[in-house]
Amino acid sequence: MADVKITNMLKFYTLCLLAAGTKHGYDLIKELEEKLGRKISASNVYPFLSNLRKNKLIRFDKVGKRDKKTYYLTSEGKKFTTQMFSKFGDLINAAVEPRLRTCPCGCRVYSGGYSEKIRGKIMHFCCSHCAKMFKSK
Ligand SMILES: [Zn+2]
Repeated sequence: MADVKITNMLKFYTLCLLAAGTKHGYDLIKELEEKLGRKISASNVYPFLSNLRKNKLIRFDKVGKRDKKTYYLTSEGKKFTTQMFSKFGDLINAAVEPRLRTCPCGCRVYSGGYSEKIRGKIMHFCCSHCAKMFKSK
């Protein structure tokens, strides 16, 4: 496993953007600014990019007259981002889990859904159809 720690949103988004495709350094910074809603300078991003490169997660090509660099994930880098996404996915599940209600049909309901008082007890369903089904049993 590469020795790269995702310790902030800047790093997280950098990998997300590279996972979406090859990027010019300049475009990367512009898109990071958009996502994070603040000014990003090259010195915020390049140390992380060079760390990624040292760990063979990304490579770059020089293109054009002014040696503009385009960055892209290596196959190791793709593996790494996939693992990262699944780790963050688990975190998100852990955050969401306590808020979920289970409808008798098996659906997990995050928000909305349908509640009805049945035999003196408030019951939660994913939709009114499931409530109807439940009552008809
Ligand atoms: Zn249901």
